[in-house]
Amino acid sequence: TSRINDTLSFTETMAACHVVLLPFMAYGHMIPMADMAVLFASRGLQTTIVTTSSTAHRLTNSIQKTVNYTHQIALHIIEFKAGLPPGIDNPDQIISNEHMYGLLEALSTLQEPFEQFVEKSQPDCIVVDMFFPWTTETAARFNIPRIAFNGTGFFPMCVSEAMRLYQPTSSSDSEPFVVPHLPHEIKLTRKQLPQFEAEEFKVFLKVLIQAVEAEAKSYGVIFNSFYELEPEYVHHYREVLKRKSWHIGPVSLCNKSTEDKLERGKKSAIDEHVCLKWLESKPPSSVIYVSFGTIVKVSISQLYNIAIGLEACNENFIWVIRNDQETFIPEGFEARMQVKGKGLIIKGWAPQLLILEHESVGGFMTHCGWNSVLEGVSSGVAMVAWPVMAEQFNNSKLVTDVLQIGVSIRDVEWSADSTCEGVKWEAIERAVARVMGAKEGDNMRMRAQELKNKANKAVEKGGSSYSDLTTFIENIKAFKSK
Ligand code: UDP
Repeated sequence: TSRINDTLSFTETMAACHVVLLPFMAYGHMIPMADMAVLFASRGLQTTIVTTSSTAHRLTNSIQKTVNYTHQIALHIIEFKAGLPPGIDNPDQIISNEHMYGLLEALSTLQEPFEQFVEKSQPDCIVVDMFFPWTTETAARFNIPRIAFNGTGFFPMCVSEAMRLYQPTSSSDSEPFVVPHLPHEIKLTRKQLPQFEAEEFKVFLKVLIQAVEAEAKSYGVIFNSFYELEPEYVHHYREVLKRKSWHIGPVSLCNKSTEDKLERGKKSAIDEHVCLKWLESKPPSSVIYVSFGTIVKVSISQLYNIAIGLEACNENFIWVIRNDQETFIPEGFEARMQVKGKGLIIKGWAPQLLILEHESVGGFMTHCGWNSVLEGVSSGVAMVAWPVMAEQFNNSKLVTDVLQIGVSIRDVEWSADSTCEGVKWEAIERAVARVMGAKEGDNMRMRAQELKNKANKAVEKGGSSYSDLTTFIENIKAFKSK
């Protein structure tokens, strides 16, 4: 009812506002943008998602959530014109950097059909992923605001920008240096930085540079975050880096029913009842959930070490293994864990929100993708931060050094081919023991629980994210009336 009421209270003022979203196809970008579309629709905005036919089916559930709203989310299909590697149209089908680069290059072929749609439908603004830098031209051509979405938070953006502007370094790969001019003393090592100079990284670097340039030309940036999570960095981004921005998250909190959580992104590989029954048989905060998201690959020897580490630790666990990697689980491991009732292995897509929010779950071993971090925070769990690539090392610093709700796996290096490897089982066992343990772990969980409460308040009427979404809508309206 509250959703419908929200819609009704905004209907009169907002009926004419039309927002068009263009998400990047990777799950980590697509899922939060789909939630964002639901939020827009819940506030009475006319909302259209533009995507390719091979991705469209992933949006069915989000659209379904808005059937009773004044404006149901609309879908508009555009197709790649050329350039895709054979059989590849989504980042999760990608097995090599060449594939990824093929996809990134092909994204520009969406410009023509996207602009045809914009010309025809005349939206009041476009909300576009960072991987579509050419949409600055679209916005200029049709005189509408371009709103950028980077799929990450204020803290990682501020760290990346400080790195870009001041290029701090140290004498050796493992010697920590301070990232200058930030509200906290944040230390990184060269090993934790993207290897931009690597030949194989050139295409990606080009796209990143274009994304930074496009962001500077945008009307503003929209964040899946909330003020209370990273207040100093919201200020830093707005006042020091001088970027217009809005925080409207955690957007995952718009998934309220079990059904919403179960089918978010993809159909779950495990039956809801099996999963919940298993969780219900465990004491509160006794389970660690282990997942590395949708892009990271885990090397065979790393899978082996994770298995031994999880078996050796005293905790119960749920371990998500991508279904293309399940054959590498050590023989007999799954059966042993089943007999002991100690571990549940999910091969394929896990209902992450449903699991994290269950009271039996007290810890999350994560690759620190921004969505996972935010979903962990919104569930009040302590984390083992195990970053692998992209901006995940920045995200892990927020978890461990700023929020103090997690510990990091030591000595991991940034991986150019998105592979998680090189951590021995003893280190995994130790990290799990710290995060799940009574003293240190419970303190981290207490802080995480406070953040969980703040996250929930932020998205309620009058909360910081709710109000910032109101500001966003007013800004778009003001632009339109000019
Ligand atoms: N996710 C999920 N089940 C899975 C794997 C991933 O629901 O088995 C969701 C997860 O909840 C998150 C997103 O997929 O919303 C992954 O985004 P994240 O930024 O954490 O990592 P990425 O996959 O982009 O590296």
